[in-house]
Amino acid sequence: MSGSTRCLIAGNWKMNGLVQDSKDFIAQLRENPAAEHVEIALMPPFTLLHSMSKALSQKGVVLGAQNVYYEDKGAFTGSICPMMLRDAGCHYVILGHSERRSIIGESNAQIRSKLNASWLHGLEPILCIGETLEQREQGVTNHLLAEQLAVLKGAPKDKPLTVAYEPVWAIGTGKTATPEMVVETHAFVHEELQRLGKDCRVLYGGSVNPGNAKELMACKGVEGALVGGASLKADSFMQIVEAAASVAS
Ligand code: PEP
Repeated sequence: MSGSTRCLIAGNWKMNGLVQDSKDFIAQLRENPAAEHVEIALMPPFTLLHSMSKALSQKGVVLGAQNVYYEDKGAFTGSICPMMLRDAGCHYVILGHSERRSIIGESNAQIRSKLNASWLHGLEPILCIGETLEQREQGVTNHLLAEQLAVLKGAPKDKPLTVAYEPVWAIGTGKTATPEMVVETHAFVHEELQRLGKDCRVLYGGSVNPGNAKELMACKGVEGALVGGASLKADSFMQIVEAAASVAS
């Protein structure tokens, strides 16, 4: 983890969580052991954003959403616009998650529109990028990541951004990238971001859990984690925060 950057541990609940789960989670959240070094964020489903907003903020946890649409308002049945997310208390929005790219068919062009709309309304995007196993084995990982990062070409320099490198083959599979892979790929991502004039925090994501968090967070170029499955329970999520704090402080 780089010294001066405040790292981010962000929990992505995906399509999980009912009202009772959110109450249990909040009741079991422990205090952030190192708030000056580690920021905590949670991305529950849209249905829980507003009801969790106040309680999370009282516990020092920043709220985020898992997706947004790029239009401001109107006849877009089923979509949620940036202003609605702001209204519900969100600061972050995840964009380009591999599940949305592969299952919903989201394109880089749509992600670029969502980036612009998010920035216009004061949201901080967490832009997800990552290669499939096939792409890694074919040796095209860096090419693919550069293509996904190209959505940042010409992006305003002053708008907030976090990037999450998430190898698709490590998401929800229990497999994680080796520290060597993580260091090498994060170095490439930082280099590419610098070239695009948008160097920012880069999180690692893909089966991060309490057992591997410390080793992954200690990797050079890693400034936090995007956590799926292990963020559903407050205890395992807080163990990851504590692992990050032990490396960062
Ligand atoms: C994710 O949802 O971005 C993710 C990394 O999931 P998991 O931690 O479950 O692999």
